[in-house]
Amino acid sequence: MSELDELLAQALSAVAQSADEQALESLRVHYLGRKGLFTAHLKKLGALPAEQRPAAGKSVNLAKQRLHDAINSRREALQKQSLEARLRAERIDVSLPGRRRATGGLHPVTITIERITAIFALAGYEVAEGPEIEDEYHNFEALNIPANHPARAMHDTFYVEPGTVLRTHTSPVQVRVMEQSEPPFRMICPGRVYRCDSDLTHTPMFHQVEGLLVDDSVTMAAMKGTIVSFLRNFFEQEVKVRFRPSYFPFTEPSAEVDMSCVSCGGVGCRICSGTGWLEVMGCGMVHPRVLEMSGVDPGRYTGFAFGLGVERLAMLRYRVGDLRMFFANDARFLEQFQ
Ligand SMILES: [Zn+2]
Repeated sequence: MSELDELLAQALSAVAQSADEQALESLRVHYLGRKGLFTAHLKKLGALPAEQRPAAGKSVNLAKQRLHDAINSRREALQKQSLEARLRAERIDVSLPGRRRATGGLHPVTITIERITAIFALAGYEVAEGPEIEDEYHNFEALNIPANHPARAMHDTFYVEPGTVLRTHTSPVQVRVMEQSEPPFRMICPGRVYRCDSDLTHTPMFHQVEGLLVDDSVTMAAMKGTIVSFLRNFFEQEVKVRFRPSYFPFTEPSAEVDMSCVSCGGVGCRICSGTGWLEVMGCGMVHPRVLEMSGVDPGRYTGFAFGLGVERLAMLRYRVGDLRMFFANDARFLEQFQ
């Protein structure tokens, strides 16, 4: 009988220490299975004297029952434990702050183009677009820049094939607009332009906005008023503006527009090279030859045109010192404009 007590004690302790349901099931088979230790013990009863057998059989069955109960309650405990572990692992902490989805932002050049477009839209200008791969006629000839004109050399043109170029300015769009419809014209053309030029202040691709107004009796005074009011709106400052005589083949007379330095207010600083003035755009009265070539009667209509560099204005407005920052795709720089 002490052998049975020992077997039971050993089995109960193994059950209490079993780590999972699988281990528990192996224990059950090991002790209570058909070939288990208790069954083997029961078989030994045959060797006992007949009068001892019922009591001994009862003891074995009692022990088996105790072990059986112990296994069942251990199984329940293990099941509860693993359920709790699973619930803990799958717990959703509703108080955790959510993961923010990073929002993209517009590129500063795009923001600047939209700003320029919005200001001119208020004055009734429409947006026109044209091809970036342009024929030489629209890029040069129609703008009064014939084949051997020195201005062609100044443009550092990318040729796609003989007679076809990547447009060097947005001016060909004004030609296309004039060819396709009748005055009055009041349009701006923002877009990419290309020049074979790369250094601190030049990139092979940059953005221009071309403006054109053609109507009855358009004067230079109207042009000056338009440009001054644009610059004051764009920079949100009472800037001083001056017009310097200049030369472009497609306008006559032509002028470069200088604006009082937005950084020092005209005193002189590093940004304006100590002059107090910043060169911001070119402009002029549309050359009668250009009107004529595009089918507009220069005897009846006059007009003005202007062209500005978008990156240049963006650099001045946002105080960006290096043009290349706009094209370096550095998220740390670009995120500041969101
Ligand atoms: Zn300055």
